[in-house]
Formats: sequence, C-alpha cells, structure tokens
Amino acid sequence: MSSIADNLQKIQQEIQCCTENAKRDVASVRLIAVSKTRSLDEVKAMASLGQNCFGENTIQDAMTKIPALNTSAVEWHFIGHLQSKKAGKIPGYFQWIHSVDSIKLAHKLSAAMFNKSSNAVLNCLIQVNVSGEESKFGLMPEEVKPYLQQVLDLNLPCLKWRGLMTIGVSGDDQQTRDAFSQLRILQQSCQQDFDIDTFDQLSMGMSNDYCIAIEEGATLVRVGTAIFGERK
Ligand SMILES: *Cc1c(COP(=O)(O)O)cnc(C)c1O
Repeated sequence: MSSIADNLQKIQQEIQCCTENAKRDVASVRLIAVSKTRSLDEVKAMASLGQNCFGENTIQDAMTKIPALNTSAVEWHFIGHLQSKKAGKIPGYFQWIHSVDSIKLAHKLSAAMFNKSSNAVLNCLIQVNVSGEESKFGLMPEEVKPYLQQVLDLNLPCLKWRGLMTIGVSGDDQQTRDAFSQLRILQQSCQQDFDIDTFDQLSMGMSNDYCIAIEEGATLVRVGTAIFGERK
C-alpha cells in the first residue's frame, strides 16, 4: 500500500507532465486535495507535506477539521451542493465555493459574508451541468450567461465571480474531453462578454480524469481518491 506522501508526489509529477504536454505553465494549475470523509489526522499529515489547498463537500464534515487545523496557510474550497439555508456556515471557513447554482444561494452567501465583515471576499464558481444528466446539480450551459448577468446586476457585496465548475461525465475519454472543452469555451466567452478579467478559473477534473481536464484548460483540479486512497 502506498503512503499519502507517495500518492501526493505522484500526482504532482503527473500534473507537471500534463501541463508540459499541454504547453501550459505548471503554476497555472492548482491541486485541491478533496478531504471529504477523511480524518483530521489525515488532513494534518497532508498539510505537513506542504499541500495547502483542501476541498470539502459538506458543512458538517468540514466543521470538524477547519477550525482544528488552525493555520491560515491553508485554503478551503467548498465543492458540494449547498442548500441556501446553510450559506451562513461558509464565511470564516471557506475562501472558495465551486457550486453556486441559484440566485437565492448567491444572495444568502453575499449577506452572510457581509455580515461577517464588509470587506471579506468569497471566490465563487458557477456549477454547470454540461452533460445534462438529471442526477447532477448545476445550471444548464445556456443558463450560465443570463445567470451571470443577473448576479452582476445585483451587485452583491463580497462575492467575486471567478469562473465555472463541472463534474465530468461518466462516459468515455472523448465524451469527458468534449464536456471539459465545452466548459472552457463557455468560461472564455463569459470572461469576454462581461469583461471580467478575474473570471479566469475552471474547476474540472477528479482522480479519474484530471489529466484530460488539464489538457482542456483546468486551473483547479479536485482530487480525492488518488491522494488519500479509496473512501470507506
Ligand atoms: C468527491 C469529489 C471529488 C473527488 O473525487 P475523487 O474521485 O475521489 O478524486 C471531486 N469533486 C467533487 C465535487 C466531489 O464531490
């Protein structure tokens, strides 16, 4: 059985390799270690190896780890579906949320952030259901621009719109690649149409498909199993 140190090193090397193949700067891709269901000790071990970016998909699971890790050097990303009534749990814990998918949630997040501190910033990604599978959360691709227009018009304080997120399709490599490519085209088109320089992030790619995602432009890859091992 390989240790998490070996796993982490292997993934860092693969990211290096994928970025070179894609003629991209290795610094343009950030690895998010998805620590959902993992213990505080596992997260601490990973942080001590220099991994400074973690992802969680439920508030409950995250709350037992974030305050206990007790270091401001670590950045936390909320990657799961969030009910708007739980938006108040985000400020002070998470710096990023990848799963914004409704006006109501955006309102609640903004209010909660402002409440905490009027100059706090939450980096927001809009989740997109590129494949159109019914089981998935997120906006349909054609809904993204109208949505972005709406939230920008609302001028919500404390929310910084950073890009798009998707969960890969469970199909073959070509279908996966097409979906990631579609997300990139949409993100670039939004960045241009709305003239937001900082709408430059693409969260796509997990343990099984992060190399394809990097080749298609991912800037944030969310990897759990390949780092920590199988979830129980
Ligand atoms: C669990 C999860 C991941 C990580 O998946 P692995 O296959 O374990 O790498 C990435 N993104 C989201 C949204 C997840 O829920």
